[in-house]
Amino acid sequence: MTYDSSNIFAKILRGELPAHKVYEDDTAIVMLDIFPQSRGHALVIPKAASRNLLDADPAALSAVMPLVQRVAKAVKGVTGADGIRLAQFNEAPAGQTVFHLHFHIIPVYDGVALGAHGGGKADDAELAVLAKDIAAAL
Ligand code: AMP
Repeated sequence: MTYDSSNIFAKILRGELPAHKVYEDDTAIVMLDIFPQSRGHALVIPKAASRNLLDADPAALSAVMPLVQRVAKAVKGVTGADGIRLAQFNEAPAGQTVFHLHFHIIPVYDGVALGAHGGGKADDAELAVLAKDIAAAL
């Protein structure tokens, strides 16, 4: 399987589509998932082109993990979540729908079931506030 640069995250990385961006540096962006499984569901997206974990450059993986940790801590602090689930899907049978490597940071709240993967769309105004608060906590 080869990387196809017409995927939606590549378009966001190129600035062709809007996003609720939380953070950006030379190697990655962080944004909120617009179909969140819970409040504060964030995505860490390395800029380097790869479909997923299987074809990623190991150097890009090592570079992004500290950011994944920072975002997990910031999301937990801002949302008051009781736990954080880290998820990452590789190829369609495993649940991948956007074929540019990304890590899901999914807050888990005691006694609250997670929504479906790729479920309902979140309110834009609410996402904008969350994105700002998480950015400030990073
Ligand atoms: P995956 O199934 O791991 O490929 O996850 C792709 C994720 O991207 C899903 O959780 C979607 O809800 C999310 N998603 C799809 N389109 C957008 C978008 N335009 N902005 C933010 N998140 C998106």
